Amino acid sequence: GPVAEAGPSGVSSCPTMEILKPSEENIRRAGEALARGLLVAIPTETVYGLGASAFDVRAVARVFEAKNRPVFDPLIVHVDSLEMVDRVATIPSPRVRALMEGLWPGPLTLILPRREAVPDLVTSGLPTVAVRLPANAIARAVIAAAGLPVAAPSANPFGYLSPTLPEHVARMLGGRVDFIVDGGACPIGVESTILDATKEPFTVLRPGGMPLEAIEELAGPVEVFNRSVARPTSPGQLPSHYAPRTPLYLFPSGGLAEARPVGRAAALLFDPASLAALERSGRAAAFAELRVLAPGGTSLEAAAALFAVLHELDGGGFDAICAERLPEAGLGRAVNDRLYKASEK
Ligand code: AMP
Ligand code: MG
Repeated sequence: GPVAEAGPSGVSSCPTMEILKPSEENIRRAGEALARGLLVAIPTETVYGLGASAFDVRAVARVFEAKNRPVFDPLIVHVDSLEMVDRVATIPSPRVRALMEGLWPGPLTLILPRREAVPDLVTSGLPTVAVRLPANAIARAVIAAAGLPVAAPSANPFGYLSPTLPEHVARMLGGRVDFIVDGGACPIGVESTILDATKEPFTVLRPGGMPLEAIEELAGPVEVFNRSVARPTSPGQLPSHYAPRTPLYLFPSGGLAEARPVGRAAALLFDPASLAALERSGRAAAFAELRVLAPGGTSLEAAAALFAVLHELDGGGFDAICAERLPEAGLGRAVNDRLYKASEK
């Protein structure tokens, strides 16, 4: 099987990295690899995760090393069932249990009081741990095959665009991961919503794949972390994150006619109506390329396409990407958060 070796950079490399189609046999292999302390990239409904046994400090250390991730940035622990939560966290109240029962499996990460068994490296020494039960059946099957909770941050170098296709993982972390389980494109396409459930009112720390509306329908009004008034407590809240190498400039919804890009620029538009408006304004010619995120005009579609389109534009040799905000509803909040964090400030 694959063995990690120190490469010229001193970072562990995995010359035998394999991409696994999700057959029963391969899911068993991926689970065994995790249980043996290897790194396995797994598909989830949000983005691809770089998985390691949450109880294996050496494996978790390799995750930080592979991603170049600072150790003050704690990881999300993925479970295959509500029963498995008990191995890493306690459920502080019936209200929190109701959230789990109502919204899991799904793109919602809950911050919960941790159990002692979780290594400090996973939680950055915090008294809490981030836990998620993913909706992706392949992810749950791999975790079940491992028989262990799996710590898995997004499978990208720290600060760069998240991966929503197996090729993104292979390109960005190819030599640093033992296996990639190929689950195709991630249907949600933005990271999970992170909700601090350790105190009331619950607080959204990062908008994501679970819409605020769905949480509030079940839990009543929740606070939303506001970067302009609060200090970041979780690096998903850092202002610069999820960023392409090409400078990205963010405009208000419908505002791309105001852009004055220099050089070869790409316009990232929300929907066909925005494109039509830009064309009517006579300013479309300012862009070398016009891309629409959501041909059907839904925020769900925009979220699913976001990272794949940004990866593609980032490889397209543009001098700038000019993007417009989405309306702040549904997954529009998560897309706007990622665009803001990707943008020049
Ligand atoms: P990633 O999986 O790369 O999207 O990153 C996971 C996010 O969850 C990071 O922004 C972490 O800071 C956040 N996170 C993980 N554990 C905690 C915790 N105990 N409290 C607050 N945020 C957390
Ligand atoms: Mg990440």
